[in-house]
Order: sequence, then C-alpha cells, then structure tokens
Amino acid sequence: MSKTAETVWNNCLKFIEDNISPQAYKTWFEPVIAVKLQENSLSIQVPSKFFYEWLEEHYFNLLKVALTKEIGKGAKLLYIIKMENKAGSSQSFTEKIPSSHRGRVSSQDVNVKLSSKNPELKNPFVIPGIKNLKIDSQLNANYNFDNFLEGESNRLARSAGKAIANKPGGTSFNPLLVFGGSGLGKTHLAHAIGVDIKEKYPDKTVLYISAEKFTQQYIDSAIKRKNLNDFIHFYQLIDVLIVDDIQLLSGKMKTQEAFFHIFNHLHQNGKQVILTSDKAPVDMQEIEQRLLSRFKWGLSAELQVPDYYTRRKIIESKLYRDGVEMPEEIIDFVARSIKTNIRELEGAIISLIAHSSFSKTEVDLNLAQRIVSNFVRKTKKDVSIDQIQKVVSSYFNMDIETLQSKTRKRHIVQARQIAMYFAKKMTKSSLASIGKQIGSRDHATVLHACKTVDNLQSTDKEFKKYVEDLSSKLKY
Ligand code: ADP
Ligand code: MG
Repeated sequence: MSKTAETVWNNCLKFIEDNISPQAYKTWFEPVIAVKLQENSLSIQVPSKFFYEWLEEHYFNLLKVALTKEIGKGAKLLYIIKMENKAGSSQSFTEKIPSSHRGRVSSQDVNVKLSSKNPELKNPFVIPGIKNLKIDSQLNANYNFDNFLEGESNRLARSAGKAIANKPGGTSFNPLLVFGGSGLGKTHLAHAIGVDIKEKYPDKTVLYISAEKFTQQYIDSAIKRKNLNDFIHFYQLIDVLIVDDIQLLSGKMKTQEAFFHIFNHLHQNGKQVILTSDKAPVDMQEIEQRLLSRFKWGLSAELQVPDYYTRRKIIESKLYRDGVEMPEEIIDFVARSIKTNIRELEGAIISLIAHSSFSKTEVDLNLAQRIVSNFVRKTKKDVSIDQIQKVVSSYFNMDIETLQSKTRKRHIVQARQIAMYFAKKMTKSSLASIGKQIGSRDHATVLHACKTVDNLQSTDKEFKKYVEDLSSKLKY
C-alpha cells in the first residue's frame, strides 16, 4: 500500500504525542496540516512563520526522528506557511521553507553543516567557533577490560559490556544500566566499554560524561537560552553515550527533560547508551517515570559486593602490575578484612606497598592489621540483613519466622518494620532485595516501613528507645 501524506503524518503525530506534553501537542501539532508526500519529502502546512520557527527551534529533533521512522533515512520536511489575509479570506500568502535537517555524522571528527538559522553548534568541550567538531571522548584508557577482573559479582554486567563493545547499538542491551554500591567498579566498567569500542570501531563517536558535568553543561546552556538547542544537538551527534552516576539527575526535572530528548533520539537511531547508578531503578527517587521506564528498556545489571576469590584476584593483579611481592598471609588477611568496597581494598594495598617500599622491609601481619584497620574503621560496620533480623527478633523475644510472617499483629509488624529500617540504613541492599529477604515483601512496603519508623521515633518515646537500643546493639 502506498503511503499518503496523511498516513505518514498521522503516524508521526502518534509518536510525537507520546513524547511531549498534551498542552504542547495541542498548541503546536494539532493545527498542522499534512499537504503532500513526494518521494521522501513531506510538506506540512503551518499557520504562521512564527509557528514554523517555533517548531524548528523546539521540535526539530522530534520531527526528525518521527519522520525518519516513517520515511527512512534522508527524510525531508518542507514547511508551507499559509497566512490568511485579514481583509478577506479569499487571498492568502504562501511561503515554502525546508526544514534544516542535517546530514548524519558518525566519526569522532564531526563535520557539521551549519544552517543559517542555527549558525553555532557548540561542542561543550571545544572552543567556540570551531566548526569541525573534535569530540574528546573523555575516556580513561587505564580503565579497561583487561584490568577489570571477572568474578561472580560482576559477571553479568561485564559480559553485557563486552557484548555491547562488540556491537554497539546492535544488542538488546540498550540502554545498559550498571548499578551497585560505591567503589564496586561502575565507573571502571563504563570506561572499559567505551575504550573497547574505540579500539574496535575507531570511527564511532564515543563520549563519557558524569551526570554532574552533564547537568552543569545543561545549566550553562539554559542560562544562555539560545544555546540549549546546540547542547541537545551536540549530544545527538554521539554514537555511544556513557553517562556516569545518573542518580545525580534526581530532582533536576529540566535536566532530565533534556536528557530524555537526547536519549530518545539516540535510541531511535540505534545509538548505544550506557548508564551507571548507585541505585537500582526501583530505588531511584525523583526521576521522572518516563525516564525510569526507558532505563529499563535494555538491561539493568548489578555490580555486587565481590566474593573472597575475586577480592584476592584484584589484590594479586594490583601487586603484579606494580611489581610487588607480598606474603600470602597478608594477601589473605586483606582480602578477608575489606569486603564491601574495591576502592578501599585498593587503597589498603597501595598503603601497604608504600610502607614496604619506604621502610624497605617486608610487610608483616602487624603492619597489615594497622593499615587495614584505618580503612575498615572508615567504612560502616558490615552487617548483613540476616544479622539484623536475628538481633531485632531476639530483642523483641520472637523468632525470625514470626518476624517474617504475614501477621498484622501490631508488635510484630513494628519489629519487622524496624528490621527493614536498619537493613536500609546499614546495608547497601536495594529496597527490593531487603523486601525479598524480610518476609518476601515488595520495595514499596520497605519504603513505607522506613518512613513509619522515622515518624514513630519522633512521636513515640518508647518506640524511639527500641530503635536506639537496637542501633547500639547492631553497631557493636
Ligand atoms: P564506582 O564507580 O562503582 O564507585 P569505580 O569504578 O571507581 O567504582 O571502582 C573503584 C576502584 O576499584 C577503581 O580503582 C577500579 O579500578 C577498581 N575496581 C573495581 N572493580 C574492579 C574489578 N572487577 N577489577 C579490578 N579493579 C576493579
Ligand atoms: Mg563511579
């Protein structure tokens, strides 16, 4: 069946409607009339020149994506501006203006054709005025796959990352969301994927950016209102976009909106997006629902706390790379003592190496204990959800099964809520995984429990005492 201007435009409208506010849709798209479809160019009629300018300025990318989806690459859009003559409706004034759709770009050395309307397309990383954009990938080659050691705790994320590096944009892992606690390797893995892609596909434009820097750039562009489009356009030129610590966009609604448009554009065009976060998607608060749901389109892979063998491997590889030998019992001691943070594990090893090379002595267990205690004391005591349940249930004279049971008896519910509260406070587990371990509840129940415990502490003296007692029991 051959496509008509109307069917093409109606399909575009469906896509557009999904991606903007109802108000904006009504104002800017309902009045548009599809006029003609000739080969790959669609003509639409708009009621004024201002209207055309507004569409171009605010919805350029959305229109481009929608149209490319419908007509394919090389789709063109032509505006017909039809102004009614006020004196008499029989006369009208028509002007045809092509949309300033740009050609596709794919290399790190990006040539941008500049339209007269939008004379500057600023790369936030280069000096203004340079038209041949050189996009620095911001990748750190020291973070690669070779030195990202594999273990049970990172197997899924690591292999998904490798698959992506082999076929950026061409796997179902798009976006890839890597999440996990601090110091577990998110940033390292994110760089490793980018570095590997640049090695395999030198022509692809890869960009690594922290969400913090992204936000700063967005704010800078938004202040000089004119640059906002340039900001978004710039990001839409990227083939592989890596955004680190995406949880930092929480509560920043405008930045999220800009990211939403960038994300949609990249995803629609088969570009790869890689995100990291210190929280699982269900635990991310104040991130717009439409963004959250997109984060889950691809694969969410957790970096877990490494097991003893992985910790040992990481220590040994660090020693090997630094050309240092260390007694077996020291390696074992460090690997057993620092469990929840690879950054701290490395820190302790670096300290040990420094001590041994300055004093030109072999590291002994005594020294190792002193150094490690500096690192361990800084981290919260490592309690497990199991321990918390044990301590809480014995404090309230009940067994763990009772604590976990489905009963609605008030004192049992409260004990369970307190256990959830401490699990959230003292472990790095997600709400979902806390819920699962404490009586198979869902994340919303855990969230509710945490809020209830917070509230009750300020209104109920006896309850407050329970929490304080338990807090000291769990800490020592
Ligand atoms: P995050 O971004 O999750 O806080 P990082 O990526 O900064 O953590 O990692 C912290 C440190 O631990 C880095 O120096 C990194 O090289 C190291 N590291 C993390 N995971 C691994 C691993 N699997 N193998 C080797 N080193 C690792
Ligand atoms: Mg990091």
